[in-house]
Amino acid sequence: MSFLKKIASALSPKGAEEGDALWVYVRCHRCGERIKTRVDLSYDLTPNYDDEGRVTSYFSRKVLIGSRGCFAPIEVKLTFDAQRRVSSREINGGQFISREEYEGDEAMRE
Ligand SMILES: [Zn+2]
Repeated sequence: MSFLKKIASALSPKGAEEGDALWVYVRCHRCGERIKTRVDLSYDLTPNYDDEGRVTSYFSRKVLIGSRGCFAPIEVKLTFDAQRRVSSREINGGQFISREEYEGDEAMRE
């Protein structure tokens, strides 16, 4: 049933794109490439349940690989509270950067 719902929302002209999403910006440790990824708060989170079946938190893991030919994987692990707000985050192979750092010109930071 939820699979069909997913299809329906993907086909609908509005809504599919404007769902709650989190953008994550990282920089590769090896080559310095900046990469961004979108975490869909409706579909990309894995819920954790307590003994009574209530959602206590969510988890999401992504592996990012840059497009400049370095191919070093960057692993991002995010934990969310029951309201789908980020409660902790971990990264291997890179570092988190802000959106400003992602979009900013490298040359301006010398
Ligand atoms: Zn790299």
